[in-house]
Amino acid sequence: MTAAIIDGKTFAEELRGRVAALVASFEAKTGRKPGLTVVLVGEDPASAVYVRSKGKATEAAGLKSDTIRLPAETSQAELLDVVSRLNADKTVDGILVQLPLPKQINENAIIAAIDPDKDVDGFHPVNAGRLATGLHGFVPCTPLGCLMLLQDRLGDLSGKEAVVIGRSNIVGKPMAQLLVGANCTVTVAHSKTRDLAEVVRRADIVVAAVGRPEMVKADWIKPGAVVIDVGINRIDAGDGKTRLVGDVAFDEVARVASAITPVPGGVGPMTIAVLLRNALVAACRNAGVPLGKGVI
Ligand code: NAD
Repeated sequence: MTAAIIDGKTFAEELRGRVAALVASFEAKTGRKPGLTVVLVGEDPASAVYVRSKGKATEAAGLKSDTIRLPAETSQAELLDVVSRLNADKTVDGILVQLPLPKQINENAIIAAIDPDKDVDGFHPVNAGRLATGLHGFVPCTPLGCLMLLQDRLGDLSGKEAVVIGRSNIVGKPMAQLLVGANCTVTVAHSKTRDLAEVVRRADIVVAAVGRPEMVKADWIKPGAVVIDVGINRIDAGDGKTRLVGDVAFDEVARVASAITPVPGGVGPMTIAVLLRNALVAACRNAGVPLGKGVI
């Protein structure tokens, strides 16, 4: 079997196009653009790259994009002040505080201070609770993007055996909740799971979110399974250069799976597209504008 490649890049471009069309109709109805504000503390180079590309994508979709850059020595109290100002600002629909934060700031305290209805990252405990109890809220962008790719590929997921490898609050746990919500039978595997290969072998759907280069091997995969690779790992390419690989040994797993996401070009592009979708949803809810069709 040679797996079909799940083209997240094209899917994400289409989603961004749908969001842009709905942003235009939001603006026509309300006379304002949906607003997304990103807060970046410090100069971590990877975070700076993410924030720049989020800003560009936000503007390209027609939203109002603001970035607040704060120095690395910002205190927790100062950052809490900024968050509370953004919570009170009616032109700000979505707030995203870029993680990781400098060590003098408690990330959980900052996440908990964001208005849950502006928490477009979906990290607030209220939104985690809403997801767990099936209420409307914000779902973290990466796992929601994975669910969209799976539903696009497989349609109804009811009754499928799904194994999620990784239990982070950002990817693994919300991914598991989404799959339960889609009627899968879900196993969450993690660093303490015994006989991981055996656990993964029973899955119709495998989502790998570990951060270990090419850990998932072909003989872990049930023939015909669909494999979603969330991992982004930079490894030595051997010629003095580096390259990106996922958590899945792509070439060998592609010979056993029925479909697989590549790295790069699979899950990665979905994250920003879903962030724009979440910002649009926040704006519609805040302004009392019904959500347009075509944004799931
Ligand atoms: P994390 O470090 O917070 O969590 C990793 C999880 O993997 C943990 O729950 C841990 O229990 C589990 N784990 C570690 N070693 C294991 C092992 N040997 N066997 C089984 N499980 C093991 O990481 P995260 O934030 O969830 O991210 C996971 C990966 O996804 C990283 O490579 C990250 O860069 C990537 N990521 C990609 C996107 C994207 O947009 N594509 C977004 C977020 C994260």
